[in-house]
Amino acid sequence: MELMPDRPRADAVGITTTIPCEVIFAAGLRPVDLNNVFITDPEPLKLVEEAERRGFPSNMCCWIKGIYAAAHHHGIRRVVGVVQGDCSNTHALMEIWQTEGLEVVEFAFPYNRNREALDAEINRLCAAFGVNRADAEKVRERLQPIRAKAHEVDRLCAEEGKATGFDSHLWMISCSDFNGDYEEFDRGIMEFLESVRGRRPRAASMRLGLAGIPPICSDLYDVVRDYGGEIVFNETQRQFSMPFDAADLTEQYVRYLYPYDVFSRVDDLAAEIRRRGLDGLIHYVQSFCFRQLHDRILRERLDVPILTLECDRPGPMDGRSHTRIEAFLEMIHEKKKRPAAAEHD
Ligand code: SF4
Repeated sequence: MELMPDRPRADAVGITTTIPCEVIFAAGLRPVDLNNVFITDPEPLKLVEEAERRGFPSNMCCWIKGIYAAAHHHGIRRVVGVVQGDCSNTHALMEIWQTEGLEVVEFAFPYNRNREALDAEINRLCAAFGVNRADAEKVRERLQPIRAKAHEVDRLCAEEGKATGFDSHLWMISCSDFNGDYEEFDRGIMEFLESVRGRRPRAASMRLGLAGIPPICSDLYDVVRDYGGEIVFNETQRQFSMPFDAADLTEQYVRYLYPYDVFSRVDDLAAEIRRRGLDGLIHYVQSFCFRQLHDRILRERLDVPILTLECDRPGPMDGRSHTRIEAFLEMIHEKKKRPAAAEHD
């Protein structure tokens, strides 16, 4: 695969995960979430293979390889990389990009969720892009009603059964960069909301949550549906849409759960399991990812059946994963029948 694009995109700024994109927009530039352009590429596997040809090891997370190649494929010359709160592989990735002539800007979410430290990081990001903090705050105010529309898609999925789990996933995950143009994104999501309100609701008999990082496989939502379930909660994607009220940028990114400790995530998962009436949780883990260790904590602390699902490369899931999802849903189905049967005894 040829990674050099037809033309470099001077106004595009690659991001390796969700950051305060308000700063990038306030600079008159376009954030490009490299994860999103990698996974929506017509041939994401070829991007992974190209990274491997360029020396990335086969026993390394494919998201890292994909975003590396996607940056080149999309002509990105400047990247904001998150050096704390996301992935330690990003450090080496940023160094590789630097050796290849890309400009790299660091951003860190302080592990202890320290408000002053985060405030200073946001100011540092503003300085790196020559942005006045007040202008970034104005962009945040403009984004709030757009994010609220993504929350509405989530609600239409979880409460009315009109949007699918995949719809909810797609709109919320896209809030990391608003596809580089939030006005266009706003028009698109308004049209989508118009169209789904007329849909016939689907009452899923088994309501599932999806915890962990967004899956690299292409068919998880469809496979769950094929076996009679519906994903009505997307944990990380919801976080990318900034679900909690906040007075300013610092508070917004302090309340954002993904980059900090697992315990506040567990509390949020427990609350959403109750609020959404979930019958089970799929914990998606990526091959070769340190976050797999969180599986033990989720299993210890959440009182709901959990299926741990691991994938490596982009594309459809293998037969074994299909079988495991089928067996998990069958188990939930049997479990749900039991109380009703007991009432007739
Ligand atoms: S899936 Fe894990 S290893 Fe891969 S980029 Fe994300 S945090 Fe890093």
